[in-house]
Amino acid sequence: MDTINILSKTSALIVDDDGVMAGVLKSALATRLNVTVCGSAGEAIPLIGANNFDIVVTDLTLPDASGIDVLTFAKSRDDFVEVLVITGNATLDSATAAINLGAASYLIKPFPISDFISSIDKMLASRLFHLKSLKLMKQSDLISPSVKGHESDITSLYYFASKLMLSLEISEVMRITLEEINQKTGTGFCSVGVNLLGYTEIYSMPVSGELNKEELSGKFADNWNSAFSYFEKEKFLNGGIPLYIYKGRQGEAGNLSNLKYHSFPLVVTGKTIGGMNVWIESDKEIEQSVNQYLYILTSIISPVIEHVYLDLQTQFQAKTDSLTGIANHRQFFEALDREIARANRKKSNFTLVLLDIDNFKLINDTYGHQVGDAVIINLTKRLVANIRTGDVVARYGGEEFGMILPDTGSGGALVLTDRICEAIAGSPFVSSKLQFTYTASFGLAVYEGGKPSRKDSLIKRADSALYKSKRDGKNRVTVSGGEADET
Ligand code: GH3
Ligand code: MG
Ligand code: MG
Repeated sequence: MDTINILSKTSALIVDDDGVMAGVLKSALATRLNVTVCGSAGEAIPLIGANNFDIVVTDLTLPDASGIDVLTFAKSRDDFVEVLVITGNATLDSATAAINLGAASYLIKPFPISDFISSIDKMLASRLFHLKSLKLMKQSDLISPSVKGHESDITSLYYFASKLMLSLEISEVMRITLEEINQKTGTGFCSVGVNLLGYTEIYSMPVSGELNKEELSGKFADNWNSAFSYFEKEKFLNGGIPLYIYKGRQGEAGNLSNLKYHSFPLVVTGKTIGGMNVWIESDKEIEQSVNQYLYILTSIISPVIEHVYLDLQTQFQAKTDSLTGIANHRQFFEALDREIARANRKKSNFTLVLLDIDNFKLINDTYGHQVGDAVIINLTKRLVANIRTGDVVARYGGEEFGMILPDTGSGGALVLTDRICEAIAGSPFVSSKLQFTYTASFGLAVYEGGKPSRKDSLIKRADSALYKSKRDGKNRVTVSGGEADET
């Protein structure tokens, strides 16, 4: 029996027309691998044809062709070759396309060499696993044909899991999962439902083509249909099969593991977080081995799904103010950056509004901190009730709020803020025990896309206008006159 000595035989090809880059990458690997370097697809393809490289590293932009061509050729020669793609522009599209075509991973230039080495380490481990599996498969020929079948299932689950680990986006995780189920079972339709951390969502994908909403609804039990507030469809690269997503209303879903047809619960540490459902044509049955395969697959995806949702929740919390549920300081300034860029691009105007509750210290001192908090929530509701879609409202300080009103000049912004200001002063804050009136002061500054200026000076102008409102007696709106108007 031939032995496979990984360390002495492992070889890599680096394809990059940037000689300096290729040299750096080569020297990072040279002590461990046999490394060959070339600078074009034209050179790479015959080299791959003549050698069994274990690893191929290719730049996406080559002088004569795309790195995708190198990837495709390498994969056509050896489906289990480990390919790392390097991309110069940070477009996720080309990188995702490469992953879809079987690349193990991608790096966006510039990257630290340590990232390169750790990618290569993972690829080496994966290649080693593959070579060992091959060896085992050869041996299992002598023992039992059924062992060989298991071996190929284990290998494909291994590759499925590796692919899954590269995806951080939930829709990407679901797409990879649903494609795997489709491939394995040849099912007519499959779906994965999640009921976790206040999210209630179903992801589904037909084997091919389009599927309309009614058809999709019909697949689910009636009590489920009413639980979903909206539906969206994600298209994929290269005209791939779309992913259908039902988004639910919090807490209204039933038990996900109770769905009809072949149902596989998603369980993490004893807790059911969702279910995977596979629809098979009525005259067909799921084979026992496929059934086992799907059970193992759910045990792989369950913790990944939980992780991605926990991550979503963390991201949401990092951007949201916990008292009011609206954007916090950080998200507000990110939104402001985006709005400035948009205004500059479109030469449009927007208004920045800063507002601050008047004599808030007195409210706290008189009624207590809890009532103070309730006033902050009350003001939030009044602001949110008065804005349009596209406007941003944030709590950026204790009793300080900010608003961004896109495509709105001083006239429109003044009408809106005057109305809010009067509404606050005009109807009292009411709770079960007490009732009192409070007021707020506003400062407005218009940003003109035709005359770009710095974010700092915009904020300073709005802040000065707010300060002027305070100085002039509070409970009022002041529009900044421009750069010159100072405190
Ligand atoms: P002015 O009319 O000039 O704005 O006076 P003010 O008393 O509203 O302003 P100042 O900024 O001096 O006081 C704001 C107070 O708000 C101080 C702080 O203790 C209180 N505060 C900050 N964050 C919170 C919060 O989350 N809840 C409550 N209840 N109070 C808060
Ligand atoms: Mg204040
Ligand atoms: Mg105040």
